[in-house]
Amino acid sequence: MFTDTYLPVNSECMSMIRCAECHANIPVPAELEARTMKCQYCGATQPVPDLLAREHALLQRKILEQEERERTTRALIDQQDRREAAVERKKSIRWGRITAIFTMLLAPTIIAITVYDLPARLGFGDAGADRVSIVAEQLKGRGCTVLSGSKSEYATGAVTKLLPGAKGCVRVLAAGGPNQHSLTIRIFNGDGKEVGKSASSADPQLEYCTTTEGTLRYEVVPGMLDKGRLTHMALACPAAAAAPAEAPPATTNPKKHK
Ligand SMILES: [Zn+2]
Repeated sequence: MFTDTYLPVNSECMSMIRCAECHANIPVPAELEARTMKCQYCGATQPVPDLLAREHALLQRKILEQEERERTTRALIDQQDRREAAVERKKSIRWGRITAIFTMLLAPTIIAITVYDLPARLGFGDAGADRVSIVAEQLKGRGCTVLSGSKSEYATGAVTKLLPGAKGCVRVLAAGGPNQHSLTIRIFNGDGKEVGKSASSADPQLEYCTTTEGTLRYEVVPGMLDKGRLTHMALACPAAAAAPAEAPPATTNPKKHK
């Protein structure tokens, strides 16, 4: 900004000076840049009387203009910064939202692990014991006897049980709690050879009949990544009671007679 403060001469109050040659009154040029003045009568040129003041004023004007330019540049930079900050803020809000959504999506899983799994690990909650005992009751009605009592446990992998002195038909029952939906029963003979395998089910059954007495072993295998409580037991059934018509679909009946 250029103000009159720095002007030694101004157009409103134009100073006059006499020509050195003809002594005519000639006006001192108002433009600061003028270093000489020309007489309009005789054409003589002479330096402006206030040359030093003009140079000083010009310098002042240059400084002021420079300051003004710097102010403008700073304002532009500030504006740019503010715009970038706003963009960053928007981005961070967006990320915040995405994070919140992810957290919301993960929350049920986390709750499932920490809240629902913990009681099962501690031995509380449904382990499928009711279903196993109901089926066992039905089988007892047919003359089956308990070979290995019902056992409920927390399992993340296969659980196994020996059945010493098993003879005739052995019926293995298993049932899972809420987190065990795909249990598989496998029976192995005294040589460790698999002699039967059930379909995968929440409450599978598997029967194996043999004429030779020996130690059998059964395994209850949870589904991949399943962890939770399950119940299993084994009954000895008379051969005639085998293959009940109303057995659950999961039952397989590999009647292997040695
Ligand atoms: Zn003159």
